[in-house]
Amino acid sequence: MKLNLNPTTRITLGLLSLAVTLLLALDLLLGVFPDPARQETQARKQFAESIAIQVASLLMHDSADTAAAVLPELLQRDARLRSIGVRTADMRLLLATPSHASDWAAGSDDELGRSHFIVPISAGTASTGNWGQIEVSFKPLDNSLFNLLSPGVKLILIFSLSGTLIYYLYLRRTLLHLDPSAAIPERVQTAFDAMSEAIVVLDARKRIVMVNRSFEKMQPDPNEQIISRPLESITWLGKGREHISGDTPWDECMRSKQPSDSGVYEARLADGKLRRLITTASPVLDARNAVRGCLVSFNDVTDLDEANHLLVSLMADLSSSKELLEVQNAELQRLASVDPMTGTRNRRSFFPEFERMFDDARGRSLQLSFIMADIDKFKLVNDNYGHGIGDKVIQKFAAIMLREARDTDIVCRYGGEEFCIALPGTDAEQAWQVAERIRKAVQAEVGAALPLDPQPVITTSFGVSTVTAGAASADILADQADQALYYSKHNGRNRCTTYSLVIANAAHEEA
Ligand code: GH3
Ligand code: MG
Ligand code: MG
Repeated sequence: MKLNLNPTTRITLGLLSLAVTLLLALDLLLGVFPDPARQETQARKQFAESIAIQVASLLMHDSADTAAAVLPELLQRDARLRSIGVRTADMRLLLATPSHASDWAAGSDDELGRSHFIVPISAGTASTGNWGQIEVSFKPLDNSLFNLLSPGVKLILIFSLSGTLIYYLYLRRTLLHLDPSAAIPERVQTAFDAMSEAIVVLDARKRIVMVNRSFEKMQPDPNEQIISRPLESITWLGKGREHISGDTPWDECMRSKQPSDSGVYEARLADGKLRRLITTASPVLDARNAVRGCLVSFNDVTDLDEANHLLVSLMADLSSSKELLEVQNAELQRLASVDPMTGTRNRRSFFPEFERMFDDARGRSLQLSFIMADIDKFKLVNDNYGHGIGDKVIQKFAAIMLREARDTDIVCRYGGEEFCIALPGTDAEQAWQVAERIRKAVQAEVGAALPLDPQPVITTSFGVSTVTAGAASADILADQADQALYYSKHNGRNRCTTYSLVIANAAHEEA
């Protein structure tokens, strides 16, 4: 079985075993630990000898009775004593405390020198030899477990227990100072490592306590020691290539105790690429709301930024090509609605708009007039000067109409050399005035503009109708103008006629 001990515990146990080994070696060499059993035996031996001297003295100088009386007293004086006996040389028990014979017999030879002591007594001179012996029996040595433990063993046990605790606490504090990352539980580190964002944990002094694997991967030099350093000192992590300076998000967050996400940093990584990192910092607060550190995360948004830029430029391209398309469409629309020779509107685009104008005028009781115009004897122009000159006449006529019309009026080539004009917000009299103006301008200008000598005089005829005369539809209004034009043609040409005049004349003729 493999013990999974943390470094602090391992060093503690190592130090402890070294210290214990040293103590045992010292005891072996110098005997530094006292041996209480040996000391007790020694004391008992000396005590037995002193008893023997007293008893022998009484036996020699006084009487045996006195000696017999002293023995129980001696027993009472020291609790360790069990019995005392005086035996003559022929092993006859001369004197003894009551239980001595049985006590002495019970003790085996093993007890001799431990709880049984024999002190020989001589008769006084060397020639007389041994007189006998004094036997002193002690209570057996205390064999309880605790007393069996010698002070040396006790010392080592106590030293081991207290040493383990003291070494461990001291080492833990010291190692924490040297390597603060050791304070991060492994499961926390594992959780941080699983995150794609680069995470840095700072302590209250803004020094790096932990980084996760994503941050380590960003390091240009994987061997660079960053634990315990201020985050600002990481040179590859800064605005551009510069060193981080000013108020950082983690400064702000630790000061305000609020999350801060105001930082965008650029890091030059091992591959030399510059990466954009969105930086957020969250405070780590304790139960008393004091700042204990800060959690800083760096989110690499370079790819996202690049994709965004690409998208923005694609969108710009798309919108410019859309605008171009719109311009082209508008131009196509214009071309489709305009007569290419004169620049006036063609019939296809004119009539729907004219119909809307008519409905609007009828619905809201607004004025709307209509002019029909035709070049007089145009066939002759073609016949006399050719089709090219004829075209020029038509173009000049159209240009005059466009010039004289207001922006809200619509000039349309009705067909051949015949044109019409829709004039919203214009009554019959005003429309007639417009037609007159055009008529006069054509007469004065068109012939003069031709490269001919002599210059011909080009004239035009006009018919004017207006919505207040009661036309029920746009077609009818146009037809009324046509009738008025017909009237002009049949009444000498080069003139303008209103439809009301046509009606009035017709009524007059009928009458
Ligand atoms: P009136 O005074 O009665 O209108 O006589 P007119 O000769 O103008 O008669 P009409 O309107 O019938 O003649 C129109 C002529 O215009 C017929 C056609 O050959 C000519 N014409 C039509 N379109 C063009 C064009 O685009 N260019 C040229 N040069 N001639 C055209
Ligand atoms: Mg004509
Ligand atoms: Mg015509």
